[in-house]
Order: sequence, then C-alpha cells, then structure tokens
Amino acid sequence: MSSTTQTAPIPLSRKPAGRVDPGAKTACIRTFGCQMNVHDSDRIRRMIQDAGYAEVQRYEDADLVILNTCYVRENAVDRVKGHLGELNRLRREGRVKKVALTGCIGAAEESAALRQTYDIDLVLGTHNTYELAEFVGLPTMQETYTPELPGTEGGHNAFVTIMTGCNYQCSYCIVPTVRGRMVCRPMGSVIGEVEDLVAGGTGYVTLLGQTVDAWRHEGKRFCDLLEAVSESAPRVWFTTSHPSNMENRTLKAIGERDAIVKRLHLPVQSGSDRMLKVMHRGYKAERYKRKIDVFREAAPEGTLSTDIIVGHPGESEEDHEQTLRLVEDCAFDSAYIFKFSPRLGTEAATLPGTVPDAVVQRRFLEVLRQVEQNAFRRNQRKVGGEEEIYIRHGSTEDGKAIGETWSGHAVHVNTDAAPGKYVKARIVSAGPHVLYAGEPATSV
Ligand code: SAM
Ligand code: SF4
Repeated sequence: MSSTTQTAPIPLSRKPAGRVDPGAKTACIRTFGCQMNVHDSDRIRRMIQDAGYAEVQRYEDADLVILNTCYVRENAVDRVKGHLGELNRLRREGRVKKVALTGCIGAAEESAALRQTYDIDLVLGTHNTYELAEFVGLPTMQETYTPELPGTEGGHNAFVTIMTGCNYQCSYCIVPTVRGRMVCRPMGSVIGEVEDLVAGGTGYVTLLGQTVDAWRHEGKRFCDLLEAVSESAPRVWFTTSHPSNMENRTLKAIGERDAIVKRLHLPVQSGSDRMLKVMHRGYKAERYKRKIDVFREAAPEGTLSTDIIVGHPGESEEDHEQTLRLVEDCAFDSAYIFKFSPRLGTEAATLPGTVPDAVVQRRFLEVLRQVEQNAFRRNQRKVGGEEEIYIRHGSTEDGKAIGETWSGHAVHVNTDAAPGKYVKARIVSAGPHVLYAGEPATSV
C-alpha cells in the first residue's frame, strides 16, 4: 500500500459562524451515510457560512439545498432519489432555487443520469468538493485531494480525518471507486489539529478513515499516532478498522491507555473462509478471532462491534452457519448487519449465485437474533455497577440524556448535565442495545 500526501489547507474558518443576518441567503445541508460524510458536511457547512449563507433545517426555507450522499447500498440511493423528487416539486413552486449533489453518489457514474432526470444544478464527487466554493461565491479553491483539510467544527466532540480513500478491493464495495486510493495525513498535522481542538474545548476526538488502522506515514504506524493523540486528548476513539491492518499492540493500547475508549469496531463481513476469500478480505475467520481474543484480554469490559453482510452472491447455507458460529464465538456487543446490495462497477455485481430475497431476509434475522442475544447477555453483566458516563447528547423532555461509558456502552441517564460533561451513575437495567442508569446522576 502506498500513502501520499499534499499540504495545502483550504482557507476556511475553523468554527461555524454564529448569528447570521436575517436577509442572508440560506442553505440546507442533508447528510446521508457514514461518519466520513458527516465530517465532509462539516467542511461544506463552513464553506457556505464563509460565503454568507445562513444554515436552515427545512428545504422550503433554503435558497440552496446540498445533498451530501452515500452510495454504499442501493437503499441509500433510493432515499436520495426521494429527496430529489421532493426538491423538484419545491423548485417548481419557487421555494428552493438551487440544488447541489455532493459526496459518493456525485462521484459515481450514475450521477450523470440523476443530474439529467432531476435537473440538478451542481454535481460534485468526493475529490472536488472544493468546487462548491466557486458555486457559492467564494474565491476559487485549489485542488486539495488530501485529508489535509480543516476538521470538524469543534464543540465537545470532534471528528479528525487521518486518512481518506481505501487501497482494498472488496468484491462488493464501491468506496475505492468513489473515494479513491488511500491518502494518509502527516502525524504532525493530525496532532496539531487535535491540540487546537482540545485548546478550543473539545473533550472527545474520533479519528476517522475507511481503514484507519492502515494509516502510516514516514515510518510511523497507526498505533504510534493513536498513542500520541491519546496523550493530547482527554478521550479518544477511532473508526473504521480493517482486520488485516489491526496490530496486537493497538489492541493492547486500547486496554492500557486511559484516554482511549474501550470500544473496537472491527468489521468481519462473514464467518466463512470461503466467502472471505470471494470478498477479497485478506484474512480467515480464525485470524479474526485471534485478534478478538487479544482485544478481550486487553479490555475485558470493552465493547466489540462489527459489520456483517448477508446474501453476498454465492453465500451458501453452510457459509451462513459459519457466520452464526463466529457471531456466537466473538459475542459481539453490537453489529451492523447489511443485506448484500449489488453496486454497479463492483466485482460482486457480476458474480453468479444471487441469493433469493426471502433467504437473505431469513439469514438477516438469524444473524440479528444471535447478535442481540449475545449483546443482551453481556449488557446484563453491567447491571448494578457504577459507571463514569460521558454525556453525548443532553437530556430531552423526559430528563434522559444519552451517554457513553469508558467501555463504550451507550447509556440512558437521568441528568441535566451538558454534552461533554461526565457524570457518575449506577446501571439498573439493560437491553440488547443500551444500558439504563436509574438514580439521578452526580456530576464528576
Ligand atoms: N472500510 C470499512 C471496512 O472495510 O470494514 C467499511 C466501509 S463500508 C462504507 C461500511 C460497511 O458497509 C461495510 O463494512 C460493509 O459491511 C457494508 N457494505 C459495503 N458495501 C456493501 C454492499 N454492496 N452491500 C451491502 N453492504 C455493504
Ligand atoms: Fe470497502 Fe473493503 Fe475498503 Fe472497507 S476495506 S472501504 S469494505 S473496499
């Protein structure tokens, strides 16, 4: 794998503008897909704010609507088409003036047809988002196909991109096509951004990339970067990792370093070696399980999540059984389970052995049930314990805030503590997806 870098940051403001003049032009940004897209939307947000737009939440209030999109599965495209249809109607009524489509759909061939069908004003991929600047009236920006871009808007938690693109070629995945090959950001630049964010009040930093653990630069590897970040930031997490790149020393660092949240997201995709080979994942189930053993030993209270695809072409009943066995063996705390979705331009879209929809649905439910049973059992073990909880989202009308323990469990907790604060509370019950803290929490 190679990693290249370029250093020419887009000159955008680091923080979003505060109040905006009531006569300002307005823009609405909708984000579809993963955290990378959420992060890209933050950059887009700062571009439009620097151009004098006020951000609004409803399409009907917006002069400009930007749909920042995902192309990983067909249902993501269907959702975007629904929004484009609605926007056409609003444009005919004179309520929306311009529509821009950005992100992964914008980078896919299908975007040309969408542009015609829905009469979209601007289509941008993931590598030329900077062209939006000119469209909204900012000075023309240079090509900066590099993660060397300003990070998220700060606040109590922030994403920091450490690499973009992906050098793998998984049979089913469109990401390498729409996001290009891996580009790693220099360590100094990452640490500089983390230090700036922490100085500005950020208490939780998430390192982002399609395969974060593949990060390397000038002889340094991901674990070196993670350790350095954990010395600068009070709370750190990272996503997404690839099993082939995950080093034992990273797994051990999760357990050893206080600032790292003890939560590992390590997508396995299948429990069958035959399917892992067809998918070009580059590891076998046994090797994956050995990594999980290292993680469980390093962080026994930690949480483990994964991604699983059911119904990839050629997946037999025996392959599916092996996935169920792996789910049982690894006792995941949660999983994103996806039904295979053929993406034009990927190898899997041309493979024989389509799995009938009814079979895919049954396998999906079987994997889901297995994951939930394990997660429920593991969550029950937390009941009765006292936890230090980081508040992610402040309390709603029912007085419940949503927080995260150091082991990475999501918790509903009675507190009016603001996002970014820590509270202590006892866990009184647990479901398969979340823990519940009973008593009013005390601030830490
Ligand atoms: N880079 C990450 C990795 O390799 O694990 C994942 C990135 S991908 C955006 C997130 C997840 O979407 C994948 O782990 C996979 O489970 C799922 N996915 C990707 N392409 C898919 C497809 N064509 N059909 C169904 N699920 C898919
Ligand atoms: Fe897609 Fe595979 Fe790259 Fe993940 S590692 S982004 S699944 S090609």
